[in-house]
Amino acid sequence: SAADMSDLAIASRAVLEPIAVVARRAGIPEEALEPYGRYKAKVDTDLLPSTGTKLGKVVLVSAMSPTPAGEGKSTVTVGLGDALAATGTKTMIALREPSLGPIFGMKGGATGGGYSQVLPMDEINMHFTGDFHAITSANNLLMALVDNHLHQGNALGIDPRRITFRRVIDMNDRALRNIVIGLGGPTEGVPRETGFDITVASEVMAVFCLATGLADLRARLAKMTIGYTYDKTPVTVGDLGAEGAMTMLLKEAVKPNLVQSMAGTPALIHGGPFANIAHGCNSVIATNTARSLADVVVTEAGFGADLGAEKFMDIKARFSGAHPDAVVLVATVRALKMHGGVAKDALKTENVQAVRDGLANLSRHARNIRKFGIQPVVAINKFTLDTDAELSVVTSWAAANGIECAVADVWGQGPAGGADLAQAVLRAIEAPGDFAPLYDLDLGIEGKILTVVREIYGGADVEYSAAAKRMLKQIHENGWDNLPVCMAKTQYSFSDDPTLLGAPEGFTLQVRDLIPKTGAGFIVAVTGAIMTMPGLPKAPAAMRMDVDEHGQAVGLF
Ligand code: ADP
Repeated sequence: SAADMSDLAIASRAVLEPIAVVARRAGIPEEALEPYGRYKAKVDTDLLPSTGTKLGKVVLVSAMSPTPAGEGKSTVTVGLGDALAATGTKTMIALREPSLGPIFGMKGGATGGGYSQVLPMDEINMHFTGDFHAITSANNLLMALVDNHLHQGNALGIDPRRITFRRVIDMNDRALRNIVIGLGGPTEGVPRETGFDITVASEVMAVFCLATGLADLRARLAKMTIGYTYDKTPVTVGDLGAEGAMTMLLKEAVKPNLVQSMAGTPALIHGGPFANIAHGCNSVIATNTARSLADVVVTEAGFGADLGAEKFMDIKARFSGAHPDAVVLVATVRALKMHGGVAKDALKTENVQAVRDGLANLSRHARNIRKFGIQPVVAINKFTLDTDAELSVVTSWAAANGIECAVADVWGQGPAGGADLAQAVLRAIEAPGDFAPLYDLDLGIEGKILTVVREIYGGADVEYSAAAKRMLKQIHENGWDNLPVCMAKTQYSFSDDPTLLGAPEGFTLQVRDLIPKTGAGFIVAVTGAIMTMPGLPKAPAAMRMDVDEHGQAVGLF
């Protein structure tokens, strides 16, 4: 059973079909398939048959405010995709690509778990088809060109102290957060302070994931702001003329990657932006490709629904047309107990009252989804220690409030464990949707942030630091007021204080900084400490990993 085996052990027992067979089932013609080995392929979207205006429905998997362990969004995304496919519905899964940072740090992989995984999980988690390499290279080519521009006379008059773009690497490496470059004298470049971010935090990654095609990618790259001149005028990639070479480095990477789930459901895994500094979901190209091939696409957005789902609707769906027809809220008994006031070390003991108390959190997420004109479906991701009494607290609450709800054990049972959830989702997507983003773009940056804080977080007000106020002025002067906001907030609370669990009210959200991402097309509102280059923990997961005598990965979750 899943309880006795690691995700990797379960994955390595699975029998995979050749990727050409999976492609045929997905309706991808042979000429559009570019195999990377036996079980992975890129899809040349230009060579897909035209489907006209008929596009598949979108099911977005999000979650209640999670515990640090994660509530199983990826697992439920894969399991629900498999369960829908098992009903005879033409289904595709669309997921973001994993980053090496969390893999070797603490969190683990991002390919699902138990009997609901996408495969080959070790290859997807490491290197995959090289997209992150391409994105890292495009980002770092830009930075090499910027520093060379300074060295060669700085014709654009870029202020070296006001360069906001940074180099990236796909690794948790805190020693690179703050560095000085260009040391060694006049032939070695212009010295300046800078640092590295993790690749998934790069604006190139956000642009990659929001672009609708190669031309749009190029146009968005050109619009990225790299810093400011001595008189504080923004300097863009287009000013430097770097967008052509950057796009060239990305031309193969923009093709979505096809793999299969353990049950054989076709899955596109493509792009992976951070859920804090960016919008946290797979590429628009992959979602729209999946919609052109399948009747239902199951996709995921990072963190809880106050972050992931809100940004999916207000950023991704607003511009790509890929709005959800249903939103699945993954809930767990352990997260409900935590929001009901139970300490982390007592989450394993039955506590019916705490589950009941924790419903305040789930309930607000469900109410929020309705504000976008979409009906939520609650998926209780079942853990082996959950008791019937605890589970029935949630199902009776949902029934009393007219919310579709199902217990899902896709982790332990695969597609069979998601049969009820699949039926609930099929009912939900039949209802005619009435999607609208939460706010209008012409509300001003402060108006948009206040709307999110009051409508989604349940807060009362917003306070801006001196730095954020200065940025508000600059945003206005540069004509960026009409961009949506990308909230960077803790995922553990509706508020900006990770210790305020449940459904807090009346708080004032502190905005520390605003970061314009003019290529991605949003303004990041930074609350609390935000990490663009994570560090490794004292006992990194990497220390458990190795390869066996057959060259197979071991210890990878
Ligand atoms: P998220 O996408 O919300 O971060 P994941 O789906 O990646 O969460 O799951 C996080 C971890 O929890 C994975 O290692 C997965 O195997 C495990 N997990 C998920 N669901 C269950 C479950 N029902 N029972 C036991 N472990 C689970």
